[in-house]
Amino acid sequence: MEIELSPDLKSDRKANEAADIVRRCVHCGFCTATCPTYQLLGDERDGPRGRIYLIKQMLEGESVTLETQQHLDRCLTCRNCETTCPSGVEYGRLVDIGREFIEKKVRRPMGQRLARGLLREGLTSPLFGPAVRLGSRLKSFLPDLLASKLPMGERPRRAWPSNSHARKVILLNGCVQPSLLPNIDLATAWVLNALEVQAVVVQTSGCCGAVRHHLADPDGALNQARRNIDAWWPLLQSGGFEAVLVNASGCAVMVKDYGHLLADDPAYCEKAAYVAERALDPVVFLQPMLPRLQDILGQNPARPAAPNVSYHAPCTQQHGMKCRGEVEAFLTQLNVKVLPVADSHLCCGSAGTYSVLQPALAKTLRDNKIQALFCRGPRSYSVCQCGLHWASSVGQPSYRSALA
Ligand code: SF4
Ligand code: SF4
Repeated sequence: MEIELSPDLKSDRKANEAADIVRRCVHCGFCTATCPTYQLLGDERDGPRGRIYLIKQMLEGESVTLETQQHLDRCLTCRNCETTCPSGVEYGRLVDIGREFIEKKVRRPMGQRLARGLLREGLTSPLFGPAVRLGSRLKSFLPDLLASKLPMGERPRRAWPSNSHARKVILLNGCVQPSLLPNIDLATAWVLNALEVQAVVVQTSGCCGAVRHHLADPDGALNQARRNIDAWWPLLQSGGFEAVLVNASGCAVMVKDYGHLLADDPAYCEKAAYVAERALDPVVFLQPMLPRLQDILGQNPARPAAPNVSYHAPCTQQHGMKCRGEVEAFLTQLNVKVLPVADSHLCCGSAGTYSVLQPALAKTLRDNKIQALFCRGPRSYSVCQCGLHWASSVGQPSYRSALA
């Protein structure tokens, strides 16, 4: 696609990066056919090719409106289109830049500014955990949309393993997951402990920055990235720590991007690249230890029969971390029967704050995903963080019980 940056953007680094991405697009439209929002809305501007065109027009100096912004807002940033694209168009990076620019040009209505500000500040605040606990008690007095997002009283099921091992990894101390689904990191720590790897959460780390990054606060996001790098750096330099593991794949993608995002910061660029290189999805770290895990499970006479599992791989894991099919293969090698899921490449509608900001689209995508995952009956379980979006919204404890 041809693009000529407007005179005021010719020397802007991000605008030039965006223009390079736009130029790689050859208009083929393969991505459009696999885009969840295009499938639902049928409007070219709600698919990747149309959004690329809207961003190109903006960068060329054409006027943009709230309607343009709405088409970018409706994008899930699932990056399914990146997996489909034969030309290697980095759509995720492009839409991030496009959103940052349009935010400066279009003033959102008061309601939108308020909702986005509340999410940006609330989800990343240290008060989020206490607020969730209070909200869970007062659930019946809250609006449905808010009440549906609150957990159903999940508490850590056991203590964190206290064993010390020579092999160590860092686990991200994120913002939302520890309060809403504390047993996910806990289960990871116990699996690692069984494999003689110590999982350490550095309390001074926190939100990865993705919430602010996707809600048009790039400076705030970079500050959170710097805070995490500062928290992890002494451990990574001490020699025993092999990786930074991140269970929530949306956060993993963000940490993986630290090197790119801080490339212009001379004080942090090298550290950020070092951290990003070590950011892994747990399944990638566990893969070389699979034979040991098989031995441990094989030696446990009390081990229950492996269930049949329907696994939904989050978009950020499939298309962002490029781990497509790895969890399914891992589970299969542990004798878990992984059932096929229709349209497994499609987003469930959770997408960070998307399910709050675009509730109608998110609900349709969620309902489609639940139908695809659970159509095989009650012995099918879904295992992924997106489950919070579905389970809390439909109020089915059986979904949630399968999550940890
Ligand atoms: S990121 Fe997802 S929703 Fe956005 S354009 Fe690409 S496929 Fe569509
Ligand atoms: S598949 Fe890639 S090259 Fe084709 S229209 Fe989409 S982004 Fe452009």
